[in-house]
Amino acid sequence: MKFAEVAVGAAGGHRHTFTYSIPPSLQVVPGCAVSVPFGPRVVRGIVTGLSDITTVPETRDIIGLISPLPLLTPGRIRLASWIADYYMAPVFSALALMLPPGFESARQVKPKYRKYLVLNVDVEQLPAVLEQLRKARAAGQAAVLEALQAAGGRLEPAVVVKKVRCGRGVITTLKSRGLVREVSEDVFRDPIARTEHPLEFPLQLTGGQQAAWHPIRDAIQAAGSTNVPGLFLLHGVTGSGKTEIYLQALAETVKQGRKGICLVPEISLTPQVIDRFFARFPGRVAVLHSKLTPGELYDEWQRIARGDFDIVVGPRSAVFAPQPDLGLIIVDEEHEWAYKQSEKSPRYHAREVAIELARLTNSVLIMGSATPDVETYYRTTRSEFQLVELSERVTPLGQTPLPEVDVVDMRQELKSGHRGIFSRLLRSAMAESLERREQVILFINRRGRATFVECRDCGYVLNCRRCSGALTYHATEKRLVCHHCRRSYPVPRKCPQCSGSEIKYFGMGTESVEAECKKLFPSASVIRFDSDAVTGARDFERVVDSFRRRRADILVGTQMLAKGLDFPGVSLVGIVSADTSLNLPDFRSGERTFQLLCQVEGRAGRGVYRGRAVVQTYNPGYYAIKYAAQHDYSGFYASEIRYRREFGYPPFNRMARLVFSHSSQSKCLEEAERRAGLIRQEIAARGLTGIKIIGPAPAYVAKLRGRYQVQVILLGHELHNLLHGIGLSAGWVLDVDPVGML
Ligand code: ADP
Ligand code: ZN
Repeated sequence: MKFAEVAVGAAGGHRHTFTYSIPPSLQVVPGCAVSVPFGPRVVRGIVTGLSDITTVPETRDIIGLISPLPLLTPGRIRLASWIADYYMAPVFSALALMLPPGFESARQVKPKYRKYLVLNVDVEQLPAVLEQLRKARAAGQAAVLEALQAAGGRLEPAVVVKKVRCGRGVITTLKSRGLVREVSEDVFRDPIARTEHPLEFPLQLTGGQQAAWHPIRDAIQAAGSTNVPGLFLLHGVTGSGKTEIYLQALAETVKQGRKGICLVPEISLTPQVIDRFFARFPGRVAVLHSKLTPGELYDEWQRIARGDFDIVVGPRSAVFAPQPDLGLIIVDEEHEWAYKQSEKSPRYHAREVAIELARLTNSVLIMGSATPDVETYYRTTRSEFQLVELSERVTPLGQTPLPEVDVVDMRQELKSGHRGIFSRLLRSAMAESLERREQVILFINRRGRATFVECRDCGYVLNCRRCSGALTYHATEKRLVCHHCRRSYPVPRKCPQCSGSEIKYFGMGTESVEAECKKLFPSASVIRFDSDAVTGARDFERVVDSFRRRRADILVGTQMLAKGLDFPGVSLVGIVSADTSLNLPDFRSGERTFQLLCQVEGRAGRGVYRGRAVVQTYNPGYYAIKYAAQHDYSGFYASEIRYRREFGYPPFNRMARLVFSHSSQSKCLEEAERRAGLIRQEIAARGLTGIKIIGPAPAYVAKLRGRYQVQVILLGHELHNLLHGIGLSAGWVLDVDPVGML
């Protein structure tokens, strides 16, 4: 008797696999999909392993095979097991990440086939055949063969019938005589024109780039012969030529007969990186993104599995692409939070999965960033990753320095009676740039016109009915919008509480900045760049393209701007408020502020102009703002890591976040208290030490869409051990290594 370990796709989700016996009639291999009895029902499952013996006293038989061929390689099964274990997720849901699209939802996407008629006669023999047919008065058959010949040997049957004006019977006769045959072929829906990009050639690396490149190149060349993967952190300021290193790393990998995966935080935000892959590897690039239809995604997946592409570019889920012969994984902008799947289980971080995948496939991994995640950087100091650095910018005109940054203390502005959105310095800098016909970028990390709306008479603040938090006024739609759930409300004429008519607007967002620009610089044209004004990838590209072509003078935007966009005409970046992410109750708020400011400042001076940035803040002494103004990553890192060590935050401890939500506030608190009590008991029972429990306490967004949220945060070394011991009841969400505490 043989036994199979099966991850079952049953509701509720199970963290372990189940043992089934294999009936002799079935050929079961690891990675194939099966149907199995589960309680009173029949469910789908994936076979994760086989064995000759079992410790389970009574096993049930596998009912049948859904896919006789394995859908997953042993390497991917191991990766899924790692994810399930590390992130405490059901095994099946971890495996499902790697299955062909459509499997999990049971809605099988059928590949499209197209039928062709193919000439089955040698070209030399064709004249003789045609003559014979004419003699036999089979002119229709002859015409079909001629039409096929004229079309290069193949045509779709329907086209033939139309061209030759013959009946289907003629084709049937030709087939039976063996003069033509019918073939069917996959038709791959091609989501993007792969040929539109002008061809580009590798650049001659600068001295700095070569120093960074050589260890990576050596690792790629050695990857076949050693079992140590090369894990690199490529730390280089914006515009220092990281993308060029990625491109050359891929070329070297292809030379070694292997392939690559490149992760980007969000496809629509990084069109320029993708374009460069297209230009360098024409026809060899697959792009996976969420806007593909299920059919397109299915096609792309099949072609990838077949080995059609040298590189697969995509967001975090692309780390699961079935790229064969993997030799290189690139994680661009590795510090980006978009790599963490926070919304649903498995709550994995694509960078961590990429590290594990590199280990399993003996691939080289390059994590690139201008502002590395403090935890990633820390791991280079522990020799877990190799640090390579690019310290200079490369621009078409050679090396240009990073922009000079002035920090404006807005408290001083207020004191001297200047209450405008723009300080005097920012205003004059804008005037100078516009005068010289150079472009300006203004950053404010809030959408809308006013961030809260209050009654002057009674102080009542207009809130969302379903969420905790003030409503934002959006002038374009003339409505109040909840930034948590996106519900919008009409603007009341009177205060809902006291019927007073003096409704006042406070705070500012992108719309206020846009309005101020129009007021102060009426002849300048302004584009707004936030998720209200720009919806979808097309829109994004349109705006980026028109600003690049200098169709506008000022771009006002949110953190969308912080991505690797390259606008050569920009000489000035104004950070209208550096303080928005600074006072959040999250241990990462300093890091977040530093990253955002560096990325946004980095948009200035990428072309022929010398760049300049003006940062406005009420906290000019704050370390993240100070270091960002000096482009001083190591200074920032030193302060940040000291603070993390002192308070025991990651990387010095692991963190897990448990959130319970319920429509009743008291139920919510009760359950959270009960759970925290159980955790304390478990810690005591197992004699675990050094685990800190923070909470239970209301989450930062205490109520969301009508449900209260209470959280418990755990910090410690032995969390994994502890978490395995506690089962979670319905309503609880567990996030291991959360990217935010909010
Ligand atoms: P990053 O990815 O670090 O932001 P890029 O690779 O996009 O930097 O490089 C910035 C600019 O410099 C691009 O326009 C790129 O074409 C150019 N560049 C990069 N490396 C070289 C080189 N070795 N020679 C000439 N130009 C280069
Ligand atoms: Zn809401």
